[in-house]
Amino acid sequence: MRTIQEPARDIPVLMDADIVVVGGGTTGPIAAVAAARRGKKVVLIERFGSLGGNLTLGLNTKPSGALVGGLPLELWTLARSEGAAGDDYFAGTKTGKVKIASPCDPEIMKMLLTRLCVDAGVQILFETVVSRAVLDGKTISGVVIENKAGRSFIGAKVVIDCSADGDIAAGAGAPFVMGTGEEDGGSPKMQPVGMYFTMSDVDVVELARFARKTDDIPAQAIPENDEDLDYGLWLTGFNNTIKAYRTETNIDLPRENITLKTANGLMYVNATRVLNVNVFSPTEFSAAIVECYRQIEEYAIFLIAKVPGFSKAKIAQIAPVLGVRETRHIIGEYTLTESDVRGDKSFPDSIAADVSAFDVHDVKGGDVDFQGLRPYELPYRCMVPLDVEQLLVAGRCISADHAAHGRSRNVPACMATGQAAGIAAAIALEGNTTVREAPIDRIQSALREIGMPLHADELR
Ligand SMILES: Cc1cc2nc3c(=O)[nH]c(=O)nc-3n(C[C@H](O)[C@H](O)[C@H](O)COP(=O)(O)OP(=O)(O)OC[C@H]3O[C@@H](n4cnc5c(N)ncnc54)[C@H](O)[C@@H]3O)c2cc1C
Repeated sequence: MRTIQEPARDIPVLMDADIVVVGGGTTGPIAAVAAARRGKKVVLIERFGSLGGNLTLGLNTKPSGALVGGLPLELWTLARSEGAAGDDYFAGTKTGKVKIASPCDPEIMKMLLTRLCVDAGVQILFETVVSRAVLDGKTISGVVIENKAGRSFIGAKVVIDCSADGDIAAGAGAPFVMGTGEEDGGSPKMQPVGMYFTMSDVDVVELARFARKTDDIPAQAIPENDEDLDYGLWLTGFNNTIKAYRTETNIDLPRENITLKTANGLMYVNATRVLNVNVFSPTEFSAAIVECYRQIEEYAIFLIAKVPGFSKAKIAQIAPVLGVRETRHIIGEYTLTESDVRGDKSFPDSIAADVSAFDVHDVKGGDVDFQGLRPYELPYRCMVPLDVEQLLVAGRCISADHAAHGRSRNVPACMATGQAAGIAAAIALEGNTTVREAPIDRIQSALREIGMPLHADELR
């Protein structure tokens, strides 16, 4: 690759913080609020102009699991009190249903996340990209940011990387594995990317009536009362209808198993899929977005033509960000494994019991493996990267293997790790110790004080 030389230059120090949280997505605001409520000076840095990441901007809206305590439950209770989320419901096939929190209204959720951060005293920096960590030896001392004011530095005693891709941790020298890792000498594979869109003017009563009687929607949640359809309808399937349409039209609809769900008067469509995208290649990343746009148009035409309730529907929104399911897994003091999230392993350093579904989109484009499993535990060590000091990771990029990530990437688990990272960073500073050596008993007591169940048997 050709290179050019960037001249060295002095950059201003914008501010100093106790804790810098990188990424104001699903996880970052929870980490920031948890730390700020313990009196720490927290700066939350987000590259876009609103909070919530894949939950709001990505139009995902739905935690695939119940929110069982602490700040995540506080947030959803708040959303419910504002009419921006419904009740928990059971979704899945006749033989395997998972209790999940209802989707939220992503626009109200952006407001609630912002309000929680402001009320806790978090300094938010929007439209600001963190380009790298600055290290003193192996210890992080702050981050370099870029925004309309140019480049500047923010000093930090602890950095929590909630960027989803682990950008800051990887740049600081923490080891990581991409996706499946290199299996049998082959290159790593990642769960596919996709882009949500919404449709307005869907007759949900007609759709629900059809969904109750067809065999082509094997996984579903349909409320008994029509008035609950606004936040309670969840349908996964349509495989045979899509296959028949493909044969009839020759149009390339790569994903046969699509999901529709309702929230805030709109139908959220999770249908697009692009395989084998290297999201760290700017051209591949952009090509994936171009392909998603093609698919969105085609899936919308398909739904209008073939699915009852859609005859008057229109595209209302297209997510302004590509939905990325999997990239780096930062390697921490412990790596969560498939057997941990399928079995009954209890961890002495557990920071959350989690009931997220097991949700793996096949790396080769096969069907989605979505299962409700018994609760499992998330150990603190999964958030403490090797080789770099005063750094925690939370959210999608914690230390987990490809299959374990199929549970830990879900919203309830991401929020739980954010909450624990914020509290742990604050407690480490209070005790004048490092995040690696932070007293786990004090972290666990603080989590219990805000109502977070820590062990799986508490949820059984
Ligand atoms: C299509 C799709 C459907 C999904 N469906 C579900 C579902 O139904 N249920 C479920 O529970 N989960 C679902 N997931 C998974 C879940 O939504 C994500 O794993 C989770 O939201 C990730 O949270 P996060 O905080 O780690 O990342 P994000 O929410 O993506 O947040 C990361 C934030 O960091 C910011 N950022 C990144 N780099 C920088 C930087 N250098 N500087 C500043 N800011 C930065 C980003 O802008 C973003 O706001 C889905 C995922 C996808 C892609």
